[in-house]
Amino acid sequence: MRHTEFTKTLEEALASEGKVALPNIVRLTDHADTVKRLSSMWPYTGKLPYRLLVSRSLAPSGTHMVTKAIYWPKVFLHTDGMASRFDGSGIILGGGEAFSFNMCEHKWDCSGANHSRGWHPKRCTECGFDASIDSGD
Ligand SMILES: [Zn+2]
Repeated sequence: MRHTEFTKTLEEALASEGKVALPNIVRLTDHADTVKRLSSMWPYTGKLPYRLLVSRSLAPSGTHMVTKAIYWPKVFLHTDGMASRFDGSGIILGGGEAFSFNMCEHKWDCSGANHSRGWHPKRCTECGFDASIDSGD
């Protein structure tokens, strides 16, 4: 998946009421860790609310949610890079539970760095997401 498709994929999954899978859904059970992760995320401000179907049990593959109960979810997006763009991962709160999703297991290419000049390149070789930081002159 290309990083340019992250938002579209998220919106399709939310609007589909559980029919379209979000990649790498994981139920979060460590509340302290979940709160810590949420504190560095931004609420999704797109076209909400969507209904989201969340089940008590994940599909065997762990890649999507089984449809059983309907909740109005709260969606939080993780951002990265200078422009703080959505990096494809986030957390969904619904039905008293928290789920993380991750559209790309980023593999960072940080070659070409010039740290003394404030140039910290960081580009995913899988999806092309650019999380580079240029803090130089
Ligand atoms: Zn990636």
